[in-house]
Amino acid sequence: MLISLFRLSLFLIIVMVFAWGVSYLASNDNKIIGSTIIEISGFEYSISPTQLLLFLGLMILAVWIFLKIASLFLAVLRFINGDETAVSRYFSRNRERKGYKALSEGMMALASGEGSAALIKAKKAEKYLRKPSLTNLLAAQAAEIAGESEHAEEIYKELILDPTTRFVGVRGIMKKRLSEGDTDTALKLAEKAFSLKPKHEETQDVLINLQTLASDWRGARKTLKAKMKYGNLTQDVHKRRDAVLALSEAAEITETDKKTDTQVMAIEANRMSPDLVPAAVLAAREHLADSKKKNAIKVIKKAWESQPHPDLAAVYSEIFEEESQEEREKGFKLLAKMNSKHIETKTMMAEMYLQAEDFPSARRSLGDSYETSPNVRTLTIMAAIEKGEGADDNVIRKWLTKALAAPRGPQWVCENCSTIHAVWRPTCFNCNALDTLAWMDAPEVKEELTLGNEKLPFVLDVLNSEGSEADQINFQVEENSAELENIEVDEAKSKS
Ligand SMILES: [Zn+2]
Repeated sequence: MLISLFRLSLFLIIVMVFAWGVSYLASNDNKIIGSTIIEISGFEYSISPTQLLLFLGLMILAVWIFLKIASLFLAVLRFINGDETAVSRYFSRNRERKGYKALSEGMMALASGEGSAALIKAKKAEKYLRKPSLTNLLAAQAAEIAGESEHAEEIYKELILDPTTRFVGVRGIMKKRLSEGDTDTALKLAEKAFSLKPKHEETQDVLINLQTLASDWRGARKTLKAKMKYGNLTQDVHKRRDAVLALSEAAEITETDKKTDTQVMAIEANRMSPDLVPAAVLAAREHLADSKKKNAIKVIKKAWESQPHPDLAAVYSEIFEEESQEEREKGFKLLAKMNSKHIETKTMMAEMYLQAEDFPSARRSLGDSYETSPNVRTLTIMAAIEKGEGADDNVIRKWLTKALAAPRGPQWVCENCSTIHAVWRPTCFNCNALDTLAWMDAPEVKEELTLGNEKLPFVLDVLNSEGSEADQINFQVEENSAELENIEVDEAKSKS
């Protein structure tokens, strides 16, 4: 601030001194004082200071013109002596100057968002410079800003032809395809861009996204590894995302029935990220299929420690399917120990006892969870316990009604865009982000409440009908993660 103020005052002072000097000289023109006497071949000339200034200026101009002509003359001489490009070089120096001027002006226009103006300057620069690798870069950007996307694409195609600008051209067309939703072509271009410049982080991200979108898990894992290698990803994040991709790969192999591959991938995914619930579920299932119960139990317990989840409980239940109730109870108690205070642990134990029709134990296991975490599951379990203990229909209906208005409890929610997913998947189906699904309570939406109230009369009718309640409750208990909405659908189907 101070410096610019100083500069401004300095400039003003110089202008004032100059103006004063010129007016002083002019006012002294008619006086002899200060005039200069020049003697040329015996004649004396007396000239005023203003005339002197003018004379000096003309001299400088004459010297400049002389030098120009001299350099042109030298170029012509060189040309005559056999240097064929001498004259063209002389003129091209001029062209170059004009070209770079246009180029820099074009860049200024681009920086201030004037696409059309930048495009004109780019054309002018190209005319003088004839360096398409340089001017096309400007022209492509200018065409994009000016909204001439077809024109921009043409320029990008030209950029691809030149090895030094190939990457920019490929990237430009890739972005255009992406904006048009042509992900197949965009994927091929992203692969090309990645091979040209593997360190480019944006290209790495785009490529991983497109690869996961195309279910090319193996390719995505390779890109992910490159991303870590070039320092754009920490080791921890790489490990976790690699596990997610390995799991996706394993899940897909299951569909094509290459059993051993699935096992290897699932167990690898689980090893890399033990808290990744779907990986633990798949790995445990693979161990079970191999009759390795101990390994399956170990995997589930490890996952339960950090992330209790109904899917884990479901697999765990399968492990003890054929065992006696006593063994089952023992097994479940061991799992519960891993995370005894967690609401999911309490719910799991209550459901286990419900299945064994041990209602007092179920009530004890659930504790006050229906108050601390009132959601569809805890409240429906309460209804089932009441039913099992022979409570009045009104009491059961009260619990079920509460359950309907209650929040659904944790779900797979995208941490990026809050979209709810019914089942886990490696990428969010809404925003396509990789590994953003977390098991948590969905952000509250006011609309949901009114929706619940609108549904209420219909559901109350269902509950009032004879014999339906018991079915509903059994369904709830058996399907660990079933929700009341499913019951509604089932009931509606059976009614129609
Ligand atoms: Zn999302």
